[in-house]
Amino acid sequence: MARLLYYESPRTTEWQTEVVNVLNKDGKYHVVLAETNFYPEGGGQPADRGTIAGIPVEHVYEEGGEVYHVLAFAPAEKTVACKLDWARRFDLMQQHSGQHLLSAVMYNNHGWETGSLHMSEEGLSVDVLTPDVTPEALKEIEDAANEVVTRDLEIKTHIVTPEEAKKYPNRKIPPTAGTIRIVEISSHDFSPCCGTHVARTGEIGIIKITGTQKMKDSMRLFFKCGGRALRDYQAKQEIITKLSQLFKADQGKLLSRIEAHEAEARAHWKELTELKDKLLKIEAGNLARSASTPVIRVAYEDKSFNDLMSLSKYLLQAGDFIMILASVPEKRLLFARSKKFDVDCGKLMKEHLAAFNGKGGGKPEFANAGFSSVEDLQRFEAFLADKITY
Ligand SMILES: [Zn+2]
Repeated sequence: MARLLYYESPRTTEWQTEVVNVLNKDGKYHVVLAETNFYPEGGGQPADRGTIAGIPVEHVYEEGGEVYHVLAFAPAEKTVACKLDWARRFDLMQQHSGQHLLSAVMYNNHGWETGSLHMSEEGLSVDVLTPDVTPEALKEIEDAANEVVTRDLEIKTHIVTPEEAKKYPNRKIPPTAGTIRIVEISSHDFSPCCGTHVARTGEIGIIKITGTQKMKDSMRLFFKCGGRALRDYQAKQEIITKLSQLFKADQGKLLSRIEAHEAEARAHWKELTELKDKLLKIEAGNLARSASTPVIRVAYEDKSFNDLMSLSKYLLQAGDFIMILASVPEKRLLFARSKKFDVDCGKLMKEHLAAFNGKGGGKPEFANAGFSSVEDLQRFEAFLADKITY
């Protein structure tokens, strides 16, 4: 069994040790070291990264009491220099310790237990065993946890037997066998845990809840601690600064400015839609008056398919027509007719579209299709015009 530096001296970033064993599994080398500070995946905490003899550590896991380091190559020498990715480990220590603290506050102040923990390089969340958390309670929990951070309390570890573990006021039930590690936040919280933690609450830095999600019987709480919280703050500040410039308002007035802008945009949109509709009605009237045959065939460079829908509606109000209307920018075709004609628009489309690389269909009086190229659209338009009899 290796000496576990991540429990004895978790801040060790570089060390020399011996390779005890190397297993070759599925083309990878699973290396056992005499001493390791590479934390194996466990207790919700991801495995560490770093290098052994300059070879990147791809994964670390524990099996049968041994810690295995997965490498792409076997180290050439028995004595190896190890280097821990300290920035990554410290980040995980901050997140993990912050989670203990947040869970402790929720348990101590509300009696809410923490279910599962999800910790990765990107995200951090816990499932809180309560049906609902109000925004007020969230703020209170966040404030209380950050208050404990500022008190810079000691985070200690007790290595005990299952019998001794029972004497501690544990927030979670400890295992009933083996050696048990109880992580204590200076008389605030006792929690059995095998992960790595910072030495004092001050090292956690700010704890910020960033969101909640309702689960079946619990609430998922997303949060960020220390460096992650700072980076998130920096990213959000950048967004606020850009929005402030865009809307010419400082942070305090930004929301009301955006809301006013939204209302204005909606009113403009409504006005525009009404005007467009009036224009389409006029255009339909003009088309109907100037039509020399019942077939109206127009390809528009500046109209959407929705515009064509309105146009066809007004054309049908103005007279009896067979319409082949194309929206060139959307490469879509509308094929519709008045009741008095017999052409089956849907059937005609279905039967011939494939030859023009088009997709679509519809009913006898109304059909539509989309094309992958303008050329196919135009060819099909011409084909339909040729095919129609009335
Ligand atoms: Zn822990």
